[in-house]
Amino acid sequence: MDPARWTPERLTARDVVAHRDVALSFYCQGCRMTVEFDVWKVGARLADDPLQTLRFRCRRCGVYPSTLMVARRNGMSGVHLFEIPLKPRSWDESHEEKQAVAMRRAREQA
Ligand SMILES: [Zn+2]
Repeated sequence: MDPARWTPERLTARDVVAHRDVALSFYCQGCRMTVEFDVWKVGARLADDPLQTLRFRCRRCGVYPSTLMVARRNGMSGVHLFEIPLKPRSWDESHEEKQAVAMRRAREQA
């Protein structure tokens, strides 16, 4: 699919993988930095699920991001395309608890 027709609601890992110049990242509240992630790892299992419905987790601190950023690589920098507000299907009560624990741990390490 052409990136011009992508929407935050429908974008899947399969769409992104077809465009090598597109990068996904999120701002981690725990690490307080932007973390880029490898869409191929998502694509291996959940290629056709809208990214918006998936639950991501920072590999460094375990905090769950709430927004994904979609950007196009342009040399050393990236051109921001749009953001995806995350609405994971598996967002249950245990999520809030895990998020609180991860945030506390991240603050202690800071
Ligand atoms: Zn983090």
